[in-house]
Amino acid sequence: MRLPACSVCKQKWTWKETWQASLRLDTRIPCPKCQSSQFITKNSRCRLMIFTSPLLLPILLPLTSLSPVLIFLLWGLLLLTYITLYPYFVRLADEEEDHFTEPLKKQN
Ligand SMILES: [Zn+2]
Repeated sequence: MRLPACSVCKQKWTWKETWQASLRLDTRIPCPKCQSSQFITKNSRCRLMIFTSPLLLPILLPLTSLSPVLIFLLWGLLLLTYITLYPYFVRLADEEEDHFTEPLKKQN
């Protein structure tokens, strides 16, 4: 488990910086240390997606006989785990890897 590091200046981002960067709507994230543009890699975005999926599980829990309080607590615990671990799944690159832009780049 390690925090992401900038691909340009190689400096590790802090837990807080990674979250702040992730909450931006723009996919281009300026490095808090050297201001160069960073992107979350496709690979780590994929892992993050798999990691997020358990958060959707509580939707199915009302179908079980578990009490709503327990479901709420369980979901809170999942959310807390997610918030804590999220920055450790983020990996950075200095160019955007995308399904849509990659074929275009190859043409050039
Ligand atoms: Zn940097």
